[in-house]
Formats: sequence, C-alpha cells, structure tokens
Amino acid sequence: MSLPRLRLEDCILKDGRWLIDEKQAHHLIRVRRCYTGSAVEGLLSGERLQLRLLCEDGLVFAEELSRTKDEGPSIMLHLILALLKNDQFDESLRFAAETGVYAIHLLSCERSVPKYSGARLQDKMSRWTKILDESTKQAGSASPPKIYAPTGLAELDLTLIPECRFAALLSPDAEPLSGIELKETAAFAIGPEGDWSPSETKLLSEKGFRPVSLGKRILRASTAVAVACGWFSLN
Ligand code: SAM
Repeated sequence: MSLPRLRLEDCILKDGRWLIDEKQAHHLIRVRRCYTGSAVEGLLSGERLQLRLLCEDGLVFAEELSRTKDEGPSIMLHLILALLKNDQFDESLRFAAETGVYAIHLLSCERSVPKYSGARLQDKMSRWTKILDESTKQAGSASPPKIYAPTGLAELDLTLIPECRFAALLSPDAEPLSGIELKETAAFAIGPEGDWSPSETKLLSEKGFRPVSLGKRILRASTAVAVACGWFSLN
C-alpha cells in the first residue's frame, strides 16, 4: 500500500522540520490514523520527500529523511482546453493532473456554455487549482499542472505554447493520434461540448495546430481529454 501523501506548499518549514497545515494534519491523524513515527511522503515542486511524523501539543510536524527528484512524464504536454460544464470540466482537470500534464491553458470558446469573469472567475480558478492539487497528491505526482486563465482562441499567448501543436478535430482530414510524430514538448487542444466553431477551426490551423483524430466515435470532451492525455503519458 502506498504511503499517505502530503502537499508541502501549504506547510511551514521551521528549524529543519515541516509544520503540517491543519487540514492535512486532520486527514493524516483522523482518517489515515497516522501517529508519531509514521512514515509519510511529501510532494513539493518536482521533488518527493520521505518524512517521519511527530505529533506534539496538538500540532503535527514532519522530519525530512531524504528527497528525490520526480522524473515526470517523458513528454511535457500543454493541454489547451475549452471551458466545459462543471462536471465534465472537473473530470477533465482530474484526468489531466493524474496523467502528468505540464500546463493547462483554458479557452473560452464561442460554443463554451460557461462564461466566467471577475470575482466568479477568481473563485473558479481557486477551485480548479485545488482540484489539480488534490489530484496530483492522489496520483503521487510531485507538481500540479500550471493553469492559465481562460482567453479566446484569438488571444491565446503562443509564446507560452510549444511549436509542436495538435487539435482534436472531428474531421475526415484529421490524422490518427497514434500516427503523429512525438517531440519532447507538445500542445494538444480539445474543443467544447458544442465543438469548435468554423472560425475557430480556421484559426487553429492558422496558429499551427494540426488536426488529429481520436477515433471514429464522437467522444464527450472529458473522454477526449482522458484519451489524449493518457496516450501522451504512456509514450
Ligand atoms: N457536439 C459535437 C457533435 O456532436 O458532433 C461533438 C463535440 S465533442 C463532444 C467535443 C470535443 O471533443 C471536440 O471539439 C473535439 O475536440 C473532441 N473530440 C471528441 N471526439 C473526437 C474524435 N473522435 N476525434 C477528435 N476529436 C474528438
């Protein structure tokens, strides 16, 4: 069985030991039944830490025993993801985090049903960041994907996106995913429930995204995310 895992970003390193934040401390003690001396694993920006717990005066600390670099997947994948309705979108974020996606660039597409701005967008961004943190913790991955706030496809910052670019398209001209040539970094775009609009399909091609097919069936957008991210993570 795997060790209980902690994300250390919210913990405080003091005098050579980590003070575990209240929420994770509660989970370790009450749910995972850990105690002084229990071995746990810490995850922190690309590193895994082997830790031993110390419970003192109602607080939970962790002593660092060793650290190792987390290799991560061999392909650094940037997922360009259209905003989807809540349940499909949350699922898509979990798939992306569990399969080790490097960055997620959100797109507010013409046919995206949800439209967020202002305080509501900020709330959503912090909720999505939490989902990514939780999913990487459960998957034992050292770093969560970076997430970029939604833009229109026309405003997508191409300086942040690798040059090897693909877009999942329901088109007879799309090449099968299994046939594409792989580079160390790649970008993969997935459209909204209502699909890409004709002007977005044109824009994708102008921005250097090659059309790729995920098979003969029309997949839900979140299934398309699972198939594409899973495929890149296994290569
Ligand atoms: N509403 C559209 C329809 O019924 O034809 C389907 C859109 S699909 C649910 C959402 C997105 O998933 C598409 O924009 C595309 O990016 C991706 N997708 C789903 N199935 C795919 C496939 N077989 N090949 C390539 N992309 C696919």
